[in-house]
Amino acid sequence: MCTLCLVTTVSGAQLRAGPPAQSDVDGLLQELQKPYLDLFRASMTPRFAATMLEQARRKLTESREQCLRRFKARAKGQERALAVAQDKLRTQASRLSEAERHGLHCEIQNLRVARSQVQMVIDHAIPVAYQNREAKLDLIERWPAEYVAIQQTLATGAQRTRRWSDVEDIGFREVARDQDQDVRDGEDAVKQLRVTGLLPRELEDDAVRGYVRQLAERIAARSDVHVPLRVTVLDSKEINAFALPGGFLFVERGLVEATDDEAQLAGVLAHEMSHVAARHAHKLMQRETIASIFYQAAQVAAVILTGGVVGVGMYYALQYGFYGLGLAIDLKLLGVSREFELEADQLGAQYAWNAGYDTTGFVRFFDKMATRVGYVNGISWFHSHPPFYERMRQIQRELAFLPARPSPVVTTPAFDAMKAALARISARATEEEAKRPSLVAPEQGCPPLPPEYQPDQPIDTLCPPPRTPPSSVPSSPRC
Ligand SMILES: [Zn+2]
Repeated sequence: MCTLCLVTTVSGAQLRAGPPAQSDVDGLLQELQKPYLDLFRASMTPRFAATMLEQARRKLTESREQCLRRFKARAKGQERALAVAQDKLRTQASRLSEAERHGLHCEIQNLRVARSQVQMVIDHAIPVAYQNREAKLDLIERWPAEYVAIQQTLATGAQRTRRWSDVEDIGFREVARDQDQDVRDGEDAVKQLRVTGLLPRELEDDAVRGYVRQLAERIAARSDVHVPLRVTVLDSKEINAFALPGGFLFVERGLVEATDDEAQLAGVLAHEMSHVAARHAHKLMQRETIASIFYQAAQVAAVILTGGVVGVGMYYALQYGFYGLGLAIDLKLLGVSREFELEADQLGAQYAWNAGYDTTGFVRFFDKMATRVGYVNGISWFHSHPPFYERMRQIQRELAFLPARPSPVVTTPAFDAMKAALARISARATEEEAKRPSLVAPEQGCPPLPPEYQPDQPIDTLCPPPRTPPSSVPSSPRC
């Protein structure tokens, strides 16, 4: 609504000497709510003065620290309350009536769950939400120069010298030799995952399974993957997909659910296939480390199965019926490192492009995940997919270099049909989950616990950003 007005105030601020008006900094912070793709389009030329960007950055840091302090204080309060309740239980055990005992059990149980939720916000929700905003601020600041450099590269044809520029030869070029040697490692890994009980059960619906397999195979056929792809859809609400060495692609139900169109899903699958094609896992580790990775995984599984220590992540695993598989599997097994992640982003964009998809799918999905706090179910995804601006920037560069394709596919009727089938499956799964006794709630009949936050709650409503005090600097024109 206020875009035009914002542009006016911004150019006003750029022209003005001295510190920018506070309201302009608020306007800049508002910009950070926009999707990455909109910001790329709007940031071909500089729009904000350096001082304003600096102020916005300071405000973001301040706001993140304030948000963290607030939740840490809350966690401390919960711990104190928990200690008091447990102390009471211990010292007055013999004098407690049945009703009093039940009340204390409920209080302890609810405090434990609430404490877990707050820890989740501290460890994951707040860092990702702010990292995402900082990345968008980086974009606004740095993309204009980057954009000019890209145009110059295109003008001189120098994009042909970038790594993996030979996109006409996808499928025939050698991204990594001997992919087939990874098949045994992948098989071992899958076996061990099954033995440890860490692998959620497979989704049995043929419509969903068939759709995901076909889509994955279509992309694989237009990629540098030379091993047969083995696709498994897992019946878990975790938002994650991962490929084990040798072409074992696992897609969790939650991820399929979270995508809005076929191009988004294609983008994620293409990214995972790139790890297979480039043999990232193999390059990162020795074969024998697989055993030690699974030794750790087995210990995590033991915790889940015995309902032992309920830690962060595990709480969600138990409460919401997903296993946080990506948290349990060592990142090395997935071939994740900064350098490999960037390479997988580049190759993934190429494979989605080569399979005829709208290449913005991956970025749009990434944005959706990073922006909504409901990403909690997708912790594993972020866990294995580090820093934001650098990745967005490099994908955007690659998209600028890829030759244009006529009418790329955004979505298909088959995607919609699959989503309809999936919605029914998920509704049933949620119903079943509600009936299952919870390991974290052994005391029955307790008053319901108001959640610390809702899965889709924006971070702003959890931690309202510090409002700018009215400024003495003349304010910008009103919309
Ligand atoms: Zn990756």
